[in-house]
Amino acid sequence: MPYRGRIAPTPTGHLHLGHARTFWIAQQRAQQAGGALILRDEDLDRDRCRPEYAQAMLEDLHWFGLRWQEGPDCGGPHAPYRQSERLPRYLEVWKKLAEQGCIYPSPQSRKDVQQALSAPHEEDSEPIFPIEFRPPAGIEQDATDPAGVNWRFRVPDGEEIVFLDGHYGEVRRVCGVDFGDFLVWRKDGFPSYELAVITDDHEMEITEVVRGEDLLTSTARQLLLYRALGWQPPAFFHCPLVRDAHGVRLAKRNQALSLRTLRDQGRTPEELRAHL
Ligand code: GLU
Repeated sequence: MPYRGRIAPTPTGHLHLGHARTFWIAQQRAQQAGGALILRDEDLDRDRCRPEYAQAMLEDLHWFGLRWQEGPDCGGPHAPYRQSERLPRYLEVWKKLAEQGCIYPSPQSRKDVQQALSAPHEEDSEPIFPIEFRPPAGIEQDATDPAGVNWRFRVPDGEEIVFLDGHYGEVRRVCGVDFGDFLVWRKDGFPSYELAVITDDHEMEITEVVRGEDLLTSTARQLLLYRALGWQPPAFFHCPLVRDAHGVRLAKRNQALSLRTLRDQGRTPEELRAHL
């Protein structure tokens, strides 16, 4: 199969040096394999994504030297490449999962979940969804639409998910320990990140996913979705995250190392790439 990679930024702020580095690695891997690179605009978060950020994202990617063969501003056989325009596809995947009986409606509020949690969790990581809220299997098979409630994937407790990452080697995550029943659909009518991303990577025939190491546990969740759907997963290559001088990983809220700021300071893409 010809190599197909993708870069998948979320336009909730300006891109920083960490994004640029991951995307550059993705581009290099696609070029080395003589394959294609696809740009996908992951704009599902209606409250936080803004069109001006999406525009800035395209400009900043171009400025940094990234080029893609399919995507928002150049089309391609798997258009549309903006997630906000792909909702009917996600809904089909939700239906398949419901038919398989591996997801369930989860009406508990965030407060219910917080109260049921016995152990505090790190701020950065998602708490394990309390098992007492998981309904018996089978109730979801008759549902015809997600209808204003959260839906979660029932993980096989105790099973170890093992995958070979192109950078980190063998990665292991235990279901029910490292992560719990995770969201696939939100009550606001949109799919979760996990559902949207596997739908798109599958339909866009991505052969290798290159992204930040903060998504290693997400990859284990996504492998469960691939298996439930009977789809062949792509290969994975997770990149170490760029950290600032204090060892804190870069975030969009911290503008100091945004590509825009660096460009305005007169830094050139060549110089930044050499530094990375
Ligand atoms: N849109 C995600 C992000 O910006 C990346 C998702 C992925 O590469 O799978 O964090």
